Amino acid sequence: MPRGSCLCGVVKFELNGPPDVMNLCHCSICRKTSGSAYGVFAHAGTERFEWLAGADAIRSFASSEHGRRSFCPHCGSNVPAIFAANSRVVIPAGTFDEDPGVVPVAQIFVASKAPWHEIAPEPTSFDAFPPTEENA
Ligand SMILES: [Zn+2]
Ligand SMILES: [Zn+2]
Repeated sequence: MPRGSCLCGVVKFELNGPPDVMNLCHCSICRKTSGSAYGVFAHAGTERFEWLAGADAIRSFASSEHGRRSFCPHCGSNVPAIFAANSRVVIPAGTFDEDPGVVPVAQIFVASKAPWHEIAPEPTSFDAFPPTEENA
């Protein structure tokens, strides 16, 4: 049941269960909106997502023909964006206040990566065996 919030705390949300997937995205839009080498985003179905506060305060920017980036107008933090057409929510992973229960599984749009950023292999880490090998 991970909860999340923006930097100033106006926007708060809760996800019922862990996200379906989390990716590191190196596309130019994620780099711009995050101000960093890449964006880290979690995806889930909207039926498991709930705003706890501040939904009416959120502003958004049409970042492409299909994309939209949402942010808190008070602190500028990226916040979750709802895509009603396919019933999905995209959550900036840094907004989670609790362990969302997943780790990034892929790095995408690496062809667009910042020239000053060296992509390390960054293999997924496990405390012990990965789940697929647990019963081996
Ligand atoms: Zn805020
Ligand atoms: Zn991206």
